[in-house]
Amino acid sequence: MEDCIFCKIAERKAPAEIVHEDEHFMVFPDINPKASLHLLIIPKKHIENLQEVPESDTELMGKLLLCAQKVANKKQLKGYKLAMHVGREGGQEVDHLHMHLLAG
Ligand code: AMP
Ligand code: ZN
Repeated sequence: MEDCIFCKIAERKAPAEIVHEDEHFMVFPDINPKASLHLLIIPKKHIENLQEVPESDTELMGKLLLCAQKVANKKQLKGYKLAMHVGREGGQEVDHLHMHLLAG
């Protein structure tokens, strides 16, 4: 989507240090880290937030969690926290669905 910073990152039209990429997702560091490792996992497809996920994207949402698992394995994490802000009142600032992965 035009004017969406995470779409631009997904299209490699905005800078980010990509730590993992597959068919559906891109993973890169949060610009304002809240932990020693703070990554964002985004679907390449623009979806505003969890409330806007259609039933047809059930598999994509399952794969989002397994993408976190892959990154955790790649980074050899012993533990981590996943978080997702949904809507302004839920603390969401960027309107492109993303999951925070925090460790350390
Ligand atoms: P939220 O929408 O509250 O889940 O937070 C969005 C997160 O995206 C914040 O933690 C920001 O620091 C982060 N962020 C915003 N723009 C960028 C960017 N260009 N590259 C990496 N992280 C970003
Ligand atoms: Zn987007």
